[in-house]
Amino acid sequence: MKPNAGMVTLALSKGRIFDETLPLLQAAGIKVLEDPEKSRKLILTTSRPEVRVIIVRATDVPTYVQYGGADLGVTGLDTLIEHGAAAGGGLYQPLDLQIARCRVSVAVRVDFDYASAVRQGSRLKVATKYVNIARDFFAAKGVHVDLIKLYGSMELAPLTGLADAIVDLVSTGNTLKANQLVEVERIMDISSRLVVNQAALKLKRDAIRPLIDSFAAAVGKLQPA
Ligand code: AMP
Repeated sequence: MKPNAGMVTLALSKGRIFDETLPLLQAAGIKVLEDPEKSRKLILTTSRPEVRVIIVRATDVPTYVQYGGADLGVTGLDTLIEHGAAAGGGLYQPLDLQIARCRVSVAVRVDFDYASAVRQGSRLKVATKYVNIARDFFAAKGVHVDLIKLYGSMELAPLTGLADAIVDLVSTGNTLKANQLVEVERIMDISSRLVVNQAALKLKRDAIRPLIDSFAAAVGKLQPA
């Protein structure tokens, strides 16, 4: 028997996604009994014995769900696209949870003239964690770019001369401002999505379907238009 048979496993990442998923879980009558910021445990119990939460890296959520290590997960659209699963890949995407909203944008140093670099057809060095999103965006715009893959602190790249521009998540814009960077293009709006393993949905339908339905009802209630 698989280690999670008879159990519904939800994959979350620490931070904004965990924090903003809690009210949705609460609305579904599920209380997470441990705090991942205080405990080192990676498997958290909930008030429902048959539901557990696992804490994984944000970029690993689609992988866990796709291969059945978790039945469901919450992940940003950015992460889904980079995972290559936006259009399927064994992941059923029933819901936009409308949480952890932000956008993917292009940013440059305040003293870099992005518009004229683009107009002149210059080749841009772009540092990002989001290579697929960046590649598609600049290709569609007809701008030649050398992409430099980074795993964090993207803001440093234009400040140190590593790159002309970055493609990163922007929420309030405070991080860009604090680093003398300016947003020059909005590539796409991002929010977190519920993803479900398609096989698990069939095998554990009676447990998973009501969860999806309560999340759907909670999204409407918690996020008045
Ligand atoms: P802000 O200063 O509010 O614009 O936030 C930007 C910083 O927070 C950047 O380092 C982003 O990578 C990160 N960030 C913003 N929104 C999100 C999100 N929804 N999920 C993960 N990281 C985010």
